[in-house]
Amino acid sequence: MKKHIAVLAGDGIGPEIVPQALNVLQTIGQRFGHEFDLAYGDVGGQAIDSRGVPLPPDTLALAKKSDAVLLGAVGGPKWEGLEYERRPERALLGLREQLGLFANLRPAKMYSALVDASTLKKEVVDGIDVLVVRELTGGIYFGKPKGIEQTQTGHKGINTEVYTTEEIQRIAEVAFKAARKRNRVVTSVDKANVLESSELWRRIVTDEHKKYPDVELRHMYVDNAAMQLIRNPKQFDVLVTTNLFGDILSDEAAMLTGSIGMLPSASVGSKVGMYEPIHGSAPDIAGKNMANPIGMIASVAMMLSYSFDLTKEAESIEQAIQKTLDQGFRTKDIEGPGTTLIGTKEMGEKILENL
Ligand code: NAD
Repeated sequence: MKKHIAVLAGDGIGPEIVPQALNVLQTIGQRFGHEFDLAYGDVGGQAIDSRGVPLPPDTLALAKKSDAVLLGAVGGPKWEGLEYERRPERALLGLREQLGLFANLRPAKMYSALVDASTLKKEVVDGIDVLVVRELTGGIYFGKPKGIEQTQTGHKGINTEVYTTEEIQRIAEVAFKAARKRNRVVTSVDKANVLESSELWRRIVTDEHKKYPDVELRHMYVDNAAMQLIRNPKQFDVLVTTNLFGDILSDEAAMLTGSIGMLPSASVGSKVGMYEPIHGSAPDIAGKNMANPIGMIASVAMMLSYSFDLTKEAESIEQAIQKTLDQGFRTKDIEGPGTTLIGTKEMGEKILENL
């Protein structure tokens, strides 16, 4: 298989963690006989400095013609004073919009070597492996009417939750297909007892499910889902939900595993998927060889699985991460008693050795 990958390292720890992920990708290529052709682009604050805008047109063009995009992180204190439209983070919105990325996939997986990093009891979190599928371009964040209006006594703020049949169908399809690569259980989260948009959501997800008889479908109200994620997170395999509910529940699920540096994410929808760790540019530790590269390396595994259907290759990366943690190697953010502290580069090398 030959694939073209756009590599956008960005700011802060981005340029430190991305090379570790690319080493893993190239090793997978050699071992399994694939060719990954890499092309680099400017993005975020670094692009503002060199090109004047967070998402230069040639970066966008590069992303569009690639088979997938690997992104490090964007942002930092240097660019915080800029007006909203020129901030590094605008590049992410631009890429999502221009690439038609309507689904955000965030796995929260607990590596058994790290159970003590969670704030929850060991028996609750050990073995967690949840994938949150969040609708990313619809719902209350985009619905109209919206705004703040004058009233006789003050103001009123308005937002509107809107979902169409097509929007629900396509996100449900992503969830059911993802479940087929996992344990084949989808929990659809809504508030159908109160909201009409949720009533439609539940109806369409149920209809769409008819095409996936090999996958089990469960429905859950969002208040209960928030509770169940803390009470018994192991009951979930794939959790699919709206933009607003997914925003909240995906952070809740991520926190179960205890470390922001460990978790990857995927944004998919059209031909080109974008893969990045869930954390930001971590300016406080940038340039110190302290960042945990595992979220970035696990993003490569997601790319292989979701964009290229290379499940075996993705699993071998997961296993190499698992083995490295089992051997006791840790970056600073996940360090604990009896473990060996290593840097970003060394963590990348250990994972490569275990691949
Ligand atoms: P952050 O995720 O960058 O950092 C939060 C904390 O987690 C920091 O203490 C940091 O050191 C630590 N951390 C994050 N990633 C780590 C890793 N891989 N290894 C070890 N520790 C890690 O969030 P923030 O500090 O709120 O934001 C910093 C900048 O990043 C801001 O400009 C923000 O806008 C931007 N940001 C970008 C993205 C993105 O690129 N997708 C996402 C979130 C925030």
